[in-house]
Amino acid sequence: MEEGKSPNKATEEFDVIVIGCGLSGLTAAYEILKLDPNINLCLLEAKDRLGGRTLTNDIDIGEGQKASFDLGGQWVASSQPDILEILEELNIETYPQFIDGTKVMQVGHDNVIRTYKSDIPSLGSYWGIIELQLFIWKAERLAKEISIEDPYLWEQAQEYDAMTMETFVKNSARTQGVRDTIQAACRSVIGADLDRVSALFFLAYANSAGGVMKLLMATENGAQELRVKGGTQQISEILADRIGRKNIHLEQPVASISQSDESDLVTVKTLSEMIFRAKHVIVSIPPNCITHIQFSPPLSEDRRLLMENMPVGHLTKFVITYDKTYWREKGFSGEVVSNGGGPLLGCSTGPLSVVYDATNDKNVPALVGFIAGRPGVEWHRQTAAERRSAVLNSLSDCFGPWALQPTSFTEKIWADEEYNGGCPVSFGVPGIMFTFGILRRPHGRIHWCGTETSTHWAGYLSGAVQSGRRAASEVMKLRGKNVIELEKLAFRKPYADQSPPYSLPNLLTPVIVVLAIATAFIAVYFL
Ligand SMILES: Cc1cc2nc3c(=O)[nH]c(=O)nc-3n(C[C@H](O)[C@H](O)[C@H](O)COP(=O)(O)OP(=O)(O)OC[C@H]3O[C@@H](n4cnc5c(N)ncnc54)[C@H](O)[C@@H]3O)c2cc1C
Repeated sequence: MEEGKSPNKATEEFDVIVIGCGLSGLTAAYEILKLDPNINLCLLEAKDRLGGRTLTNDIDIGEGQKASFDLGGQWVASSQPDILEILEELNIETYPQFIDGTKVMQVGHDNVIRTYKSDIPSLGSYWGIIELQLFIWKAERLAKEISIEDPYLWEQAQEYDAMTMETFVKNSARTQGVRDTIQAACRSVIGADLDRVSALFFLAYANSAGGVMKLLMATENGAQELRVKGGTQQISEILADRIGRKNIHLEQPVASISQSDESDLVTVKTLSEMIFRAKHVIVSIPPNCITHIQFSPPLSEDRRLLMENMPVGHLTKFVITYDKTYWREKGFSGEVVSNGGGPLLGCSTGPLSVVYDATNDKNVPALVGFIAGRPGVEWHRQTAAERRSAVLNSLSDCFGPWALQPTSFTEKIWADEEYNGGCPVSFGVPGIMFTFGILRRPHGRIHWCGTETSTHWAGYLSGAVQSGRRAASEVMKLRGKNVIELEKLAFRKPYADQSPPYSLPNLLTPVIVVLAIATAFIAVYFL
């Protein structure tokens, strides 16, 4: 049977059905087949393509030329063993994110655009830097105490789950520049503003990555450290080749899943009324999509509540190509962290949150950035031409007028993507985390994967791979296979054998030196 074609029979029986052909579902199927090449397995995918939240497009860059860029997930890191192992297995190479040069920062009440060259962000005041560092230390210390497996086991869980990240940040930092910096980070990491996210969820999420700083950095071990040659969607395409395209049915959105005590088969129905049955089902779709499937018997109240209260973030990703890396020539790295600046066109801020150099492995010069969180929703109401103009003008303010002359401008609004409805991740709102422990628990013969269910880099490509490995190990263990080696991979601990992206005390060293000199100066001249 060809990929994308429905089966000829009205009902087919399988050992395992995997629902969803993003990275997690395909990894689950791949690992299952490695343990038992003769297993009778099929995958059902709603879209007409593979890869879910990864999407590598050939962009028209003018003069008849095309260049390939990631419009979905793109970065990986040396602290992400699951994705790196899969990349190596599939012979896909990585290359470092370009980070050399001056960085741009626009935060604080004054919305002034500042630049900086070292690791110390330009917040407009030394006190801001100290406050940011104190906040990071506090968040790192708390994150380390909270297990992503069940954050509610933490003794302060209730207190922190009753709190939004906004309150947590306001309680910890008075400087607007610090608050704006953390807001920009939350918008780009989760796709939501601080006031929507449970503080407990955010800290547990950071725990799964091995720390808050790992989420933010493009240096070694940080989430933005490495790019994938040829893009990330090819990972799913190559996995599909290895799984066998005949086992994959595209354009088959699953509408209902039912199981009963009378049968050892689970029945899966698609919107096109196709019926598939299997002994085990792995659901790899994001929480916000699970709520659209009818389950019989119904999901437990805990799980229903959790799925309904894990909204998906909002990211519009833009990739802009140029005929030269103008920013590098002027000594810029291409990195911008911004509060968006002042109100614009009826939106509460301008469009930018973060921007990076996106020059691809074929050396096509490009910048990538996000319109994220609330500004993402507000700018979604504007026309494409207005968004493009606002983004280019903002970049021109940051870097110079050359930014207004791109060779192409491409945007991907993930909120409009059917069967995802947003990105990069579904997050926990306050008051729901007491149900979080159920996320990975099977529902009868139904097992769960998907990056949100991961315990190592949840929300990321690596988390998707880890969760697929875990679901595969659960099913194959039930089928009597030896899964010891797979379990070792699937249950790695996030903090094991990893150093932070950079040494935190180093960040404060220049501040401490300045304070020491000032103190010495005061002592000599005034005492
Ligand atoms: C713009 C953007 C930037 C990102 N940046 C990064 C990054 O730089 N680094 C990183 O590591 N991660 C990043 N991510 C996150 C990363 O892409 C995801 O963590 C990962 O791809 C999730 O894989 P998944 O298999 O868990 O889910 P998905 O990829 O969402 O796969 C789920 C699949 O289920 C299908 N589905 C949904 N409903 C149904 C149904 N009813 N029936 C059948 N199928 C269904 C969907 O169509 C989809 O194909 C980013 C994501 C986005 C969108």
